Amino acid sequence: MKSNSQQVKVFLRCRPPLKRELSSGQYRSVVSCNVERPNSVNIRVERDGQTFIKTFDFDGVFNQTANQLDVYKRVAVHSIEEMLKGYDCTIFAYGQTGTGKTYTMEGRPSRETKWDVNSDAGLIPRVCQHLFEELENIDSEYSVQISYVELYNEKLRDLLSPHYSELKLLNDSKGNVIIEGVEEVVVHSNENVYDCLDGCWKRKTASTKMNENSSRSHTVFTITTHVKSRNSGEEDILITGKLHLVDLAGSENIGRSGATNMRAQEAGKINKSLLTLGRVITALVEKTGRVPYRDSLLTRILQNSLGGKAKTNIIATISPAHINLEETLSTCIYASRYFY
Ligand code: ADP
Ligand code: MG
Repeated sequence: MKSNSQQVKVFLRCRPPLKRELSSGQYRSVVSCNVERPNSVNIRVERDGQTFIKTFDFDGVFNQTANQLDVYKRVAVHSIEEMLKGYDCTIFAYGQTGTGKTYTMEGRPSRETKWDVNSDAGLIPRVCQHLFEELENIDSEYSVQISYVELYNEKLRDLLSPHYSELKLLNDSKGNVIIEGVEEVVVHSNENVYDCLDGCWKRKTASTKMNENSSRSHTVFTITTHVKSRNSGEEDILITGKLHLVDLAGSENIGRSGATNMRAQEAGKINKSLLTLGRVITALVEKTGRVPYRDSLLTRILQNSLGGKAKTNIIATISPAHINLEETLSTCIYASRYFY
């Protein structure tokens, strides 16, 4: 039975084979899309000399030929509208390391990025450019703030702070979770966003090249908008909306393969956030009472933006290669679970 909750939508994106995969001479694709069922994917499973096809359904499937603009239009354009109407929206990239989470979220941003022109720019640079374009077209006062945090080993750090400082969570008097001391930078234009993020992207790329931490950390980029809505004769209303763009830790860390190379404690902590996220989303979709937000740092900081009136999109990313078959299957199972 397909859930008709539109609170959570799940998309699948399969990246094209990489040059090194093709040149290895070992490459075989196990992923194919179904022309008659455009929102399904077929995975060819080879086990014990037997081959069979497993089909998974999603709200949308992006095959190898889908580009950054296709993904933006289908998954993120509505989030801008909804944020400006006062909703909290979250877009997650979930999947094995090397399948395109960071490419989907960041890609290769440049100051020339236009949201409606195809390029390697991912969702974050497109959202920022598009948002300011929309805001300039509406006749209201507005303000925009951004923050960018990293969660590693259940510790929270501020990517916008030059000191990369460690942050703590607090509950305010209304029970909302707030991140104490987080840099929330007011930005007035898309140029301003780049001024903030340039250094941050350089730091992230450098640290990714140095070690493999990026596969084990989650990053949360948040845009908050306040728009004054004129209310004829009455007081103006301030509409606050949020959009979180979340690049999750590699999902292989959840299961068998990656965990063996890692200290057990670290694996446990990565598991905790990804598994709790899965449980929280399942509880929201199935409306099964208690939602276990408090069980991980990731779900605590997103607590106000998951559930209620919030809108959640998940982009599950996979590789087409047969050597990644087991991880591809677990990603499809994790992601398609929300439909049955
Ligand atoms: P992840 O963040 O999931 O570990 P990356 O985003 O770093 O994966 O992607 C791994 C590699 O694959 C990068 O070199 C990236 O540029 C490339 N890649 C990923 N998705 C695509 C895609 N859809 N089209 C072209 N290249 C891609
Ligand atoms: Mg990445």
